[in-house]
Amino acid sequence: MNRTPEQISLHEWDRLHDDLVAAGLPQPSYGGPLSRHVPDGDLRLPRLRYDNSPAALRLWNFLLTEEDRLAAARTEGKQLVGTMKDLGTVPVMAYSSPSLVAFYPDGAWWIPCVMELSAGLLEVADSLGIDESFCPVRAMLGAFLTEAHFPIPDLLTCNVGATCDDFSAIAQRLNGLGYPILWWESPHRRAPDPGEASVELPGGFVAPEAQVAFVHDELERVRRALAHIAGRTITDAMLAEGITTANKVRSTLDELRRLAYAAEPCPMPALEMLIAEMLAIHFCSDRDECLAVLDELLAEVRSRVDAGLGALAGGAVRVFWVNPVADLRVMNMLEQAGGRICGTEYLFCHALDPIPEDLPPMEALARMALADPMTGPTADRADRICRDIGLFGSEAVVVSQIPGASHCATEGAVIRDTVGARLGIPVTEIEVPPVADAMAPTIRNRLDALLETARARRETLSATHEPVRTTT
Ligand code: SF4
Repeated sequence: MNRTPEQISLHEWDRLHDDLVAAGLPQPSYGGPLSRHVPDGDLRLPRLRYDNSPAALRLWNFLLTEEDRLAAARTEGKQLVGTMKDLGTVPVMAYSSPSLVAFYPDGAWWIPCVMELSAGLLEVADSLGIDESFCPVRAMLGAFLTEAHFPIPDLLTCNVGATCDDFSAIAQRLNGLGYPILWWESPHRRAPDPGEASVELPGGFVAPEAQVAFVHDELERVRRALAHIAGRTITDAMLAEGITTANKVRSTLDELRRLAYAAEPCPMPALEMLIAEMLAIHFCSDRDECLAVLDELLAEVRSRVDAGLGALAGGAVRVFWVNPVADLRVMNMLEQAGGRICGTEYLFCHALDPIPEDLPPMEALARMALADPMTGPTADRADRICRDIGLFGSEAVVVSQIPGASHCATEGAVIRDTVGARLGIPVTEIEVPPVADAMAPTIRNRLDALLETARARRETLSATHEPVRTTT
């Protein structure tokens, strides 16, 4: 069935789903019309716009059925590991053992959005003294106490130290409520002193060898705890295989991002690409299926690029997006305003970089953990953002502020000043609450102003025949 790529509503997807099934579309076990998730409480879905490819349908269904997969894994006798805050490291270790399945309780971050605040998780957090002065990840407390969104894990790990104050405070509250946590620490990543032994990390940051060694030892404690609940040793050979498979996911995502963020017109909308990127951190609880989902999405994008087809109109302003949005609908808003995503830093860029395969696996994982943008100075993060803007030729930057998030108080100004001084492209900051409907006119105004400034700059550069300056 030939379809022109476009964004459609949930209602339109249901009709298309029926047509595709009637035409013989094979469906995975978790397939089906997207609207079936609405009675489960996913009330935001009717307010979103979706890519109309079967690959996107599979991606959304995969995302929205994770809870079922976790329950099935437990029934099969696998041990569940709740990995908190490190965003991409411990899951690689856990999936190296066939008896373990890892997921991020942090994912409760999005429940207030997806369920339009109907689950009452933020109220539970309020009642525990974790109020709106904390980031929306406080919804995780409510998810643990209600046991309505994911099974309680057999082991909980949490990365602390130079990560984020909000998460540490919330996880400490969780620990105090009777959910024991294996804490492992990341030091604040610093520049090596003159003459100090140092190593380059995935993604290009540099760190002292001593700091990598410290993280290595911390991760060894995590390895022992994982092996304990798995009931068998997790060897270096098993970890090396786990790293190779994680790198397959990362290389598939790398090609997907390069095509989706560079091709003109834009072949895949922002929301689907955001979900695809998120799969890198814990494979949405099924590593093999995750790879199959991404492969199908990549095939769709390749075919659109080869045919010169886009899901959005040509000429959209190329925007680099910093931080994940608490309300998914805002990604649609950017596109409705005439923008498109051409580069991202959703706080887990270290989960997209290839993990070195020519090092002992624990050393490679320690380097990756220390490459987390949250563990170093914001200036490092701003440097990387400038570099990545150069990859995709972004013409404007949105720094999406997360309500209550401690790191958001100052990072926007650092990123804005660095990007402005080096690249001269416009930057705006917007704050996005979990349900942003009341803020929508303000957010839209700011996006309109940003895109108008970028268009004016584009015209000026084109009139003076100057290349668009996007590299450092
Ligand atoms: S404050 Fe930022 S880094 Fe910390 S949990 Fe919230 S979104 Fe994540």
